[in-house]
Amino acid sequence: MIPEYAQSQEPDLAAEVADLRARLAEAEDTLEAIRSGEVDALLVSGAQGEQVFTLQGAETPYRFLVEAMNEGAMQVIPDGTIVYANARFAGFVGMPLQQVVTSSWRKYFPVSDHPRFEALLAANKLSGGRGEFNLQAADGVLRPVLLSFAPMSAAEVQGVSVIVTDLAEMKETALALKQTVADLEAFSYSISHDMRTPLRAMQGFSSMLLQSCADRLTQEELDYLRRIVASSSRLDQLIRDVLRYSRTARAELVLSKVDVTRLTRQIIESYPTLVEPRAEIVLAGDIPAVMGHEASLSQCISNLLDNGVKFMAPDRLPRIIVSAKTENGQVRVLFADNGIGIEPRHQQRIFKIFERVHPVDKYGGTGIGLSIVKKTIERMGGQVGVESELGKGSTFWIQLPAAKD
Ligand code: ADP
Repeated sequence: MIPEYAQSQEPDLAAEVADLRARLAEAEDTLEAIRSGEVDALLVSGAQGEQVFTLQGAETPYRFLVEAMNEGAMQVIPDGTIVYANARFAGFVGMPLQQVVTSSWRKYFPVSDHPRFEALLAANKLSGGRGEFNLQAADGVLRPVLLSFAPMSAAEVQGVSVIVTDLAEMKETALALKQTVADLEAFSYSISHDMRTPLRAMQGFSSMLLQSCADRLTQEELDYLRRIVASSSRLDQLIRDVLRYSRTARAELVLSKVDVTRLTRQIIESYPTLVEPRAEIVLAGDIPAVMGHEASLSQCISNLLDNGVKFMAPDRLPRIIVSAKTENGQVRVLFADNGIGIEPRHQQRIFKIFERVHPVDKYGGTGIGLSIVKKTIERMGGQVGVESELGKGSTFWIQLPAAKD
């Protein structure tokens, strides 16, 4: 006798079995279709066992991505035919998409660019590469682009995928920015220049008063006049240094081989503050030649030597040892002084314009010298730095590429 609960479930069970049979038949059909090559598919192993994706389904998100992206894209086979392009690429060249596909890439690049393009195509059968080109639109207008090549190794067709990034907008922005910076520099240069004229008049007349009226003025009045002379000459120094800084930023630096040993010797000989009995500058061996701009490098070395002598305890004879180290094709020139030193927390900021650590009334200066050194050396492709211990001395260094023989 069949129990009551089983009797009530029998029709459901039969329906379920029928449904499972139907699904099995369907799955077998699909597998058969995959096996016979009727349908392209991917078998993906996951937490819920193996799942089948038809390639058509798997490709859909990529297609959307490539069609919607801001970059142009094309696929080129070895004979030069474009077998795929996105709408953006067609937009770049100003042609209907249907005409772009099946045409040759040669149509869209000036003949002078062809050898470079071909070399990249050939090299990119195996690995990726990139280069800047000019894309030529149907109306002849050239657009600067960056092409990134990648081999289509996964596809059955041999060929290369090319992503086309528009550089026109980027170049325009960079150009506009460069122009703005140049305008600002020219403005600050001319304003600094013009400020010196009235300043010189102030300096001149107050000096004349000091000389011609000294016997008629009280001590207090004389002191006021001296302060006017001192302040105006300080302002003049500041303006001259700002002009020097802006010249450093603007000047065209053509690099050539510079004999640093000879240059350093010449600088020492031409500054009375750098020779005995006021200071002792020692060249510890020859300094290898570097690639640099001689006049600018001369300015940097004299700034560093001048500081080494200036920031000195009053009871000590300034002594600077100039030496060099060469590593990986770079020459580092070191200037080790026996001066007052700099606390670690100030060692970075002193390379910024107008930054000073020590009081101006004691040591003078405008806080511009080291910023000129940094800007100049970096413009020559080098680096600057300092190591220092308070009360013991500082070692400033500049590093530039070694000159090739
Ligand atoms: P300036 O010498 O005109 O003040 P710099 O830009 O050359 O300007 O130097 C910035 C600051 O760095 C100086 O004011 C000083 O405080 C510090 N400095 C520079 N060189 C040395 C040095 N050799 N020893 C100690 N401190 C220094």
